[in-house]
Amino acid sequence: MSTASRTNRQWIYRRRPVGPIEPDTYELVTTELATDVGRGEVLVAARYFSVDPYMRIQQAARNTWEAPHPLGAVQGGAVVSRVIAKGDDVLGIAEGDWVLAYTGWQELARCHVSQVTRLDPDAAPVSTALGALGMPGRTAWFGLMEAGRPRPGETLVVSGAAGAVGSLVVQFGKRAGCRVLAIAGGPDKCRFVQGELGADVAIDYRPLAGDAARIAAELARHTSGIDVYFDNVGGPITDAVMTHLARRARVVICGQVSQYDGGLDAPALGPRFLQHLLFQRATIKGVLARDFTHRMDEYVRLAAPWVKDGTLVAKETVVDGFEKLPSALAEMLKGKNVGKMIVRIP
Ligand code: NAP
Repeated sequence: MSTASRTNRQWIYRRRPVGPIEPDTYELVTTELATDVGRGEVLVAARYFSVDPYMRIQQAARNTWEAPHPLGAVQGGAVVSRVIAKGDDVLGIAEGDWVLAYTGWQELARCHVSQVTRLDPDAAPVSTALGALGMPGRTAWFGLMEAGRPRPGETLVVSGAAGAVGSLVVQFGKRAGCRVLAIAGGPDKCRFVQGELGADVAIDYRPLAGDAARIAAELARHTSGIDVYFDNVGGPITDAVMTHLARRARVVICGQVSQYDGGLDAPALGPRFLQHLLFQRATIKGVLARDFTHRMDEYVRLAAPWVKDGTLVAKETVVDGFEKLPSALAEMLKGKNVGKMIVRIP
């Protein structure tokens, strides 16, 4: 029996951070991976790694929609890889094919073929399987269309509007005929959401110093009532939006990224806004990507042609270097990305 192996670098999740990710949150280790593929197995070499806010959520020592990420394990995450070997009995996948799999932050992985999804590089750039045509895209589409139920002429507010999910919600909102108010951090992101994504109004929340009253005053300059709020960030931005809901508004809770660096365990107490839902007969609904996993094909069939013809902007921030993975996650949580944050092995 042969015992071929290859050196494999892995990022191990080592310590639960209290606030922002710290240098000792992760440890880079080098191991040997046995590369002989068994029945039904493929060996894949990673090329594009997804960096997502949920990674920070799952670093906390508490259950969320699932158990906390285990310590001492490779950081989980979606990865776009190339198949470099396969078992003789594996059909429908060839060496050299691009695949998406949840193999985490490691350069090489051996996994069962049932765990990989083959990607068609002619349909769209393969990295979009992590963003516009991946989990963030699915969340944006089904979250907005099914929970937000936007109608032509309505006012949609999107927070985190320049990010992976938000940048798509802005565009889907325009496709649905809404007037879109996009909230993002900094003048460059505001230019992006208006100039490239087509938002009607861009609001830079950073100079408003996290002050809900000032953000509310800025919103009041642009709208007399918000019909749909797609919330990626929570905190003072959401407090402000709540004071401007229109009758029968729909509030979609997708994420609360302003609270992730420590705040999930010790949340800041903000104003209580449930009375606005009452006054306006509004509804609020949480959406989770995994509840729509079974509809991924439906979404990709719809959106891949838009990505290919450029009518859906699939913006990415690509950081080169496997060793940059933890810092890319920390930077994304501070807003250094525009669109989907990806780490590439050049
Ligand atoms: P992203 O928006 O691409 O990146 C995170 C962004 O959060 C940063 O770029 C930054 O943008 C913003 N941010 C950080 N701190 C902030 C603060 N204090 N106030 C306001 N904004 C802040 O990430 P994403 O992958 O698209 O995820 C966006 C949200 O959706 C996250 O809350 C995430 O957890 C959630 N999400 C949920 C699901 C689900 O299944 N429900 C799936 C995917 C994502 P600025 O520079 O504009 O501040």
